[in-house]
Amino acid sequence: MIRLGLVGRKLGHSYSRFLFTEKFAALGIEGEYAMYELENIKEVRDIVRQHRLNGFNVTIPYKESIIPLLDRIDPKARAIGAVNTVSVSDDTTLTGYNTDIDGFDALLNSAIAKHWYRPRKSTPSAVILGTGGAAKSVAYVLSLHNADITLISRSTSPLGWIKKAGYKQASYSELTDSILYHTDIIVNATPLGMYPDTDAAPPINYDAIQPHSIALDLIYNPQETKFMKLCLAHGVYTANGMRMLEVQAEEAWKIWNDTT
Ligand code: NAP
Repeated sequence: MIRLGLVGRKLGHSYSRFLFTEKFAALGIEGEYAMYELENIKEVRDIVRQHRLNGFNVTIPYKESIIPLLDRIDPKARAIGAVNTVSVSDDTTLTGYNTDIDGFDALLNSAIAKHWYRPRKSTPSAVILGTGGAAKSVAYVLSLHNADITLISRSTSPLGWIKKAGYKQASYSELTDSILYHTDIIVNATPLGMYPDTDAAPPINYDAIQPHSIALDLIYNPQETKFMKLCLAHGVYTANGMRMLEVQAEEAWKIWNDTT
């Protein structure tokens, strides 16, 4: 029996249980993927012990705050500063990994392959909305594509990790039409528009986004978010986060099979 799960604060939006239940059935494995809604991430060790977990995923808002609670961390996850997959060995040893990177890389590559537009510049301009755990993975992948990256925050206070990585930071009021006009790739890495608040969208001027751009939403529930609808209305290529979800889950599955 393999016991897996998802740790986060509110999990009504998640498809992970569905994905893993399908996987157990397809492979003929006896397994369970349970949802653990925690008020405080410090409860995680009790959950692991009580439910004898072999591994788990981590979601909003704990991808960063889980790091001090781990025994070991994969160097890439440490460098990025976000963990979305944890393996449990010897019943209590927690090792953290980041498979959102693989997921976002797959989403970005499939969008570039399907879109008529190929980045015209060797340094494409990328705008990432949000500065949380997922934004860290998105920025890392875009940096490997040699992108010029600006992260947009509600806050005007500079964030250390953004400066350290050499990215730019701006507030929503500093996100000018000129920046949006020259943006090749725009990513919604905020929860705005996610079920059940499906009428929400990041507060940017959608009229300034050009049809040559690619707009990616990490949200997959609903399938077409308000952010995607607003971008589509301007002829922009859009994709949701389903491909990212599937690939990060596949990579997590490989880690659990190799390490537990
Ligand atoms: P998170 O750590 O909670 O961070 C999200 C960021 O969004 C925050 O740091 C914040 O940045 C901004 N934000 C939060 N609430 C906001 C609001 N009301 N208005 C404007 N901005 C707001 O979450 P996350 O783990 O990074 O995840 C972000 C989104 O990506 C979620 O929808 C999640 O479901 C999705 N996701 C999908 C996948 C997938 O596989 N498809 C994987 C990972 C994440 P500022 O404070 O700087 O504004």
